[in-house]
Parts: sequence; structure tokens; C-alpha cells
Amino acid sequence: MCGIVGYLGNEPVYEKVIKGLSRLEYRGYDSAGMAYIEDGELVVKKCKGKVVDLENVVGSVKPLSHIGIGHTRWATHGVPNDVNAHPHCSGDGSIALIHNGIIENYASIKQELMNRGHVFLSDTDTEVLVHLIEDVRNAEKVSLFEAVRLALSEVHGAYAIVVLDKSNADQLIVAKKSSPLVIGIGAQDDFYIASDATPIIEYTKNVVYLNDEEVARVDRKTGLTIVNIDNQSQTPYIQALELKLEAIEKGGYDSFMLKEIHEQPRSIEDSIRGRVNLKTGLIKMSGIDEHEERWKTAPRILIVACGTSWHAGLVAEYLFEDFARIPVEVEYASEFRYRNPIIYPTDIVIAISQSGETADTLAAIELAKERGALIFGVCNVVGSSISRATHCGAYTHAGPEIGVASTKAFTAQVVVLYQIALSVAQKRGVISNERTTRLMAELGSLPLKVEQVLKTNAITEAIAEIYQHCSNALYLGRGYSFPVALEGALKLKEISYIHAEGYPAAEMKHGPIALIDENMPVIVIATEGASYEKVVSNIQEVKARKGQIIAIVTEGDKTVKGMADHVIEIPRTDDSLVPIVSVIPLQLFSYHVAIMRGCNVDQPRNLAKSVTVE
Ligand code: GLU
Repeated sequence: MCGIVGYLGNEPVYEKVIKGLSRLEYRGYDSAGMAYIEDGELVVKKCKGKVVDLENVVGSVKPLSHIGIGHTRWATHGVPNDVNAHPHCSGDGSIALIHNGIIENYASIKQELMNRGHVFLSDTDTEVLVHLIEDVRNAEKVSLFEAVRLALSEVHGAYAIVVLDKSNADQLIVAKKSSPLVIGIGAQDDFYIASDATPIIEYTKNVVYLNDEEVARVDRKTGLTIVNIDNQSQTPYIQALELKLEAIEKGGYDSFMLKEIHEQPRSIEDSIRGRVNLKTGLIKMSGIDEHEERWKTAPRILIVACGTSWHAGLVAEYLFEDFARIPVEVEYASEFRYRNPIIYPTDIVIAISQSGETADTLAAIELAKERGALIFGVCNVVGSSISRATHCGAYTHAGPEIGVASTKAFTAQVVVLYQIALSVAQKRGVISNERTTRLMAELGSLPLKVEQVLKTNAITEAIAEIYQHCSNALYLGRGYSFPVALEGALKLKEISYIHAEGYPAAEMKHGPIALIDENMPVIVIATEGASYEKVVSNIQEVKARKGQIIAIVTEGDKTVKGMADHVIEIPRTDDSLVPIVSVIPLQLFSYHVAIMRGCNVDQPRNLAKSVTVE
């Protein structure tokens, strides 16, 4: 959450900052702001709203400065307004700072600083940090670089910051702890700083990911200098980015969400490529092969995740239990870490996160690591904090996901978890070769099947037209389809602001059935498989109360067709793979409903992607 950018180089900063912020806007869009140095003055422009509002504030006369910083905010402390927008400045107006994260002990520091005469303008924790840096610099008579380091050693919480000093148009100071920050090094010694690589990729492929508790100085004369919080010098590790520019552009679609929904045949294929070998009947995943003994003997798997990733984790629970016969517990990362959980050193913890930056998941990983468990990460963003904090893992290879509502990341996560479960089942010798080969072949046919479902878009759109004005919706599924019901409901809630609930179909009788009337759409995943007949009975129960049934059925289904108000057919596949195919119409349904209601599907209100605060 919150996107930060910085630029120091040979070209005007304005376009770099605005473009960079637009690329990072998925991280938050409560306010936008920038600071630069012009004619020896520190100029700050900021406002409530989006990057386009900031462009209006700046107006037609663009700054010519070659150094600056920019911020797009997802508010944690203080309402979204002009004053709370970043950058924030020191009391004497000499230092400007942008921040992603939370300064947890800001209240006590603020009180101390106020006792020493500091006056604060905003309600943010961030403003406290810039005053603290000013205070330290004045008291200790040290450079800004040193003052930032000393100030940060007094701070608890998470931060990625960029600091600009009015008296030095040749340097930026950056630092990070638990929030992401990457520094790009251009050919002409231009420096690009950002929360992720998307604003940088256009200019350079050479990047340095700062580690936690490192403070860096980028300087026109001396280049990049990094120290840790204890002032020990660190050697920058320059990596080459693999990201492609097309991957972060809309490519002709009206929204990133629609593009990402349609990318799923390819992203699913990418998450299988190089792992499944149909000839040998083996699955190759280094994170499993290198820790084979642990996977063979682990008495239990714990899965920690948040949001959509948690739903992928629920599907994985069914997969691991079904294929590998290992007990699994799926935990909300935020709950897990705060309740003193029982973690054995023999446990394997799988942490799932699209961004690889989810603060609660990272904290859960640290806790599980302390207790000796083996930590396996499933992340989409290469080089992200979680991928670095885990012992081993697998990337989902879905490509950048920019729409705030996760779509292709979910299906890729399930596909990767599927392969892990199959591979572990093989290693433990609890699955027959015949079953593995059949499931691997089915897995390989998924991209085509998903392609086929995407062709039913017009049917889904017509159904969305009918229900666009509803105020509640119920999603039902059993077995493998229960997590899909949860995911479908989440998609509708987050982008169309319609209240929706996902339930195991049989649980409906224990409460939610009371809500059903002729205005209530009930979306049921009723594909052929183990619980088909039971789900058919649940549909009857809804119909008996005049509920409106939208059913996701297996192609050729006659029974449900005869009783549902609407059906969307999906290709036949193994029960265990239904989540990947059946979630597609649910994604499309929420997309169409949201568009018809005039909602911004890529930037839903109050939300942001990459949840770097706890
Ligand atoms: N805590 C800061 C604020 O509320 C930054 C928030 C964030 O990174 O999400 O302005």
C-alpha cells in the first residue's frame, strides 16, 4: 500500500514521477503528491485524489527540476485529504519525505517532539518521522544520511522512505524495513526509486532491492552508498529485471482486471511450464526436491495467507488431504501470528501472497521461522520480500497483476499448489501413477478449458445485466467448490460494493436460508462430481423459497438446467480442478456488474493492492 517514487538524473523529473505514480496507483489512490527542488527552493504539490488530480494541481507549467519524489497514498493514519497527503516536510521546510508503511511508536515520538517545540500540521505518522529526522540532524550536527539512519533506529514499524533535502539537489536518501523498495540504476547514472519495478522497467533493467534496515544514499557524484542501521557498509547487489513493459500496460483492454481475466489461459500455462513432465510422469519443483525428506515426513502443513490467497490456500487444503494425505490447517496470517499458535519444527508452512509483500503474511513467516518450521513461499512478484524471507518456494509466473481485485493470481496460485500437492503425494508414495498421470494430463488441458469458458462472456454479461441492482448475493459450493464460493463473493463485494456471502452449500440451512426471497440471487457451483446430487437438493431448497438461481454447471448438464433461472456451462474436468475453471465466470460476473454500476474495477474504493500494513 502506498506507492513511492524518486528520481535523480539528467532529465526533468516531472514526467518520471507522474508516470511512475500512475504505474503504482494500484497501491493506493487516496491522495497524490510530489516534491522537487527548483531554483534552490523545495516545492511541494499535493492533493486528495488521484494522480490526475495532482497533474491538475501542478497545472500547465511543468517543473524543470531533475530531482524529485512522488507518492500515491492508501491512508492509515489520518483521513485522505490535502494536508495528510505526502510528501510531508520538516518544521523548517528544508526536508521533504514520502513514506509507505506505519510508524507504530509515532504517538510517543510526536509527544516528545511537541515538548521540544515541534508543530505538526497533519494527522499522519509520516510527518512525525520527517520531524524526527530534522530534530536529530540539528541536535547531532550530522549529514542527512546519518540523521536518517539515527532517526530510524528509534522507530518501530514498517517503512520505505525517500527523503529530499532542499540544500542538496544532488542526492536522495532512501531506507526500508518491511515495506518494499527498489533502486534502478540507469545508463547515465540516473537513479530511479520505486515501491516496485513497474515505474523503472521503462528506463533500466539494473536494479538493487534494498534489504530491511538498510539506508542508502544516491548521489550524482558518489553514486549508490548503502549502510545498515548499525552503520556497516553494504555492497549493492545489482540484479537484472525480467519484467516486460507490455506486461504492465492495458494492451487494448478497458481495464487491467478484464485484461488479467483474459490472460488466464496463458498465465495458467506459464505456471505449469517446465514443472510437469508428462513423459516421465514427474513434477519438478526445486523447493520440494531440495527438501524432499522434510516433505516426506512432515506430520502437518500450515498454510498462511490473506484475502484471495487465503481462498487459494483453502483449495490447497483439499488438495493436500486428498492427494498427499497430510493434515492441513489454513490460517489467516493476521490471526495466526497474534494467538501464540502451536508450530512444530517438523511442520511445513506454506505462505501464499501475490505481491510477496503482505505484511501479516511476512510476520507469520518470521514467527514460524523462529519455531523451526520449513517455510515455502508461493508468490507472484519475483524478488519480493516473502520470496526472500522463505527457505524455498515456487513463483506463480502469472505476470504482473495490476487490477486490485485478484484474478489471474488466484488461478495461478491454485495451479502451483496443485503441482506441489501432486509432487508431495508422489514423494510420499500415496498416489497411484495412473491417477497422477491422469491429473497431470487434465492440468495440461486447463488453458484450453479456461479459453472455452472465457467465450461464455456474453452469457455472463446478460445475467449481470439482470442482477446489477441487487443489494445482496449468496454464493454456494461444496467440497472443492466451497472456496470458489468464497472467492466469487469476495470479487463481487470488492469491486461492485454489493454485499455478498460465500457458504458451503449445506450450511445454508443453518442460517443464510432466512435471507432468501425473490430478490436474492444465489450463485451455485453445481458441477458434476462427488457432491452433485446434494447441491441439486440445495438448489431445490432455494427455489422453494423463490430465490433466483445462477448455476455454474458442467457442459451438457440437464438436471440443473431444468431448475435454475440461469446456467453457465463450463467444460468437464476432474473435481479437483473445477475451482480453476469455475471461478472464471464468477470473475466475469462481478466485473460486468461493477462496470454496469459505474464502479472503477481496477481501483475499488478503500482498497489497495500489496497490503504492506498489518
Ligand atoms: N502511514 C502513512 C499514511 O497514512 C503511509 C500509509 C501506507 O503506506 O499505506 O499516510
